[in-house]
Amino acid sequence: MAKDFDHDIIVVGGGPAGSCFARIAAGAGLDVLVIDKRKEIGVPVRCGEGVNETEIIKEGLDLPRSCYSTPIVGAKIVAPNGKSITWKDKDTKGWILERKTFDKWLCELAVEKGATLKTYTRALQLLKDEKEKPNGLTISHGGREPFDLHAPLIVSAEGMESLIARQMGFKTVHALYDVDTCYEYEMKPYDHENLIELYFGNALAPRGYVWIFPKADRKANVGIGVGGNVANGDKLGALKGAQPKPLLDQFIKGNEQLKESSTLLDFGGVISVGAPINEFAKDNCMIIGTAAKQVDPIHGGGIAIAMEAGVMAAGAAIKAFEKKDFSKAIFTEHYEKPWRENTGPRLAKRLMLRKVMEKVSDDDMNHIFSTITDQDLQQIMNGNFAGPVAKVVGTRPQLLGVLRGLIG
Ligand SMILES: Cc1cc2nc3c(=O)[nH]c(=O)nc-3n(C[C@H](O)[C@H](O)[C@H](O)COP(=O)(O)OP(=O)(O)OC[C@H]3O[C@@H](n4cnc5c(N)ncnc54)[C@H](O)[C@@H]3O)c2cc1C
Repeated sequence: MAKDFDHDIIVVGGGPAGSCFARIAAGAGLDVLVIDKRKEIGVPVRCGEGVNETEIIKEGLDLPRSCYSTPIVGAKIVAPNGKSITWKDKDTKGWILERKTFDKWLCELAVEKGATLKTYTRALQLLKDEKEKPNGLTISHGGREPFDLHAPLIVSAEGMESLIARQMGFKTVHALYDVDTCYEYEMKPYDHENLIELYFGNALAPRGYVWIFPKADRKANVGIGVGGNVANGDKLGALKGAQPKPLLDQFIKGNEQLKESSTLLDFGGVISVGAPINEFAKDNCMIIGTAAKQVDPIHGGGIAIAMEAGVMAAGAAIKAFEKKDFSKAIFTEHYEKPWRENTGPRLAKRLMLRKVMEKVSDDDMNHIFSTITDQDLQQIMNGNFAGPVAKVVGTRPQLLGVLRGLIG
């Protein structure tokens, strides 16, 4: 352990970002403390729980059976007029997780590598040295008397809340336009074919969509995301104040299966759907995962991206300890730069797709769905827009202006 410190690294947050960071850093022999304010890791669940298989494989992890509810074999996308495209592919798999067990499993992997995890432990205040550089945290366990812990490197993996990240000086506050406000039920019974179902329409879910994610035992996560500016009555005229829960209830009433189903779980939440923050590192600290707005802006999915960022940032931390250099420069070189070169452009393309989709009217959306095929949809999902866009523009040239950005 570094001299005069309690730990080498303190990580705030035991979600996918923090636990993956801790697994790699502790595996390299560093003394890592992860604190999480929750009494139990992964609980309560506030997530659709969908994740792409390829991302987990990239992590080199073998997902235990207890960590997922059901595998996914494809997707069904439904237009405002009800027309759907279904896409199944042996190479496009993922899972609907059980985050209660999944998040705990990721933390256990970190603990097995030597990290220490403390639940029900909240970071209250960032501590700084005489040069104003972070060197510790004031924390409280179970609401008891706060105490200080020191480390030369502090990592914020706090998710949406990001209190400590803001004290570090990171610009984590979201504009309403850059969040979706969400509501979700776990429901039963719902018979499905292990497909993700996504429903679009400006009346159904303004600036968002409804999802049905299949779970085992005839269950499903049924949720909605609505643009934060819409839900909060910003600008969009007739759509002002469209709240996610009533809109989701309306959708459920109109669904032949769900209108008869029970709810097993009920929760609301906010997800980030904008661009990542402008910097991921400063002297003596880094920010990873959803705290850094590292999410897929199409749907706000951030589990796999958080895991990936955790691993990359841990690589940078290992370098920092080798060189005894905790400057912004070393974290930027080994974490932020490779992230922006690899993951950044992929997410930027997804953000562009979101912006395009927001400009498309329901009528245009219906037209697009009646023009493209399941193979086109697969190409879009893989980030190849040129073929499908050419097809749509060929039949409705006025969409060229809106869709042009996707092929540029
Ligand atoms: C309604 C909804 C549906 C979603 N559906 C999906 C989905 O289907 N697929 C997907 O990939 N993503 C989904 N997401 C997003 C996903 O949940 C996050 O992107 C993911 O959990 C990010 O991981 P993380 O480790 O960065 O943060 P988190 O998982 O949020 O973990 C942060 C941790 O930090 C802890 N913490 C925060 N502040 C402090 C503090 N001061 N002291 C101590 N601990 C602290 C929290 O308790 C928490 O455990 C959804 C989100 C919502 C709200």
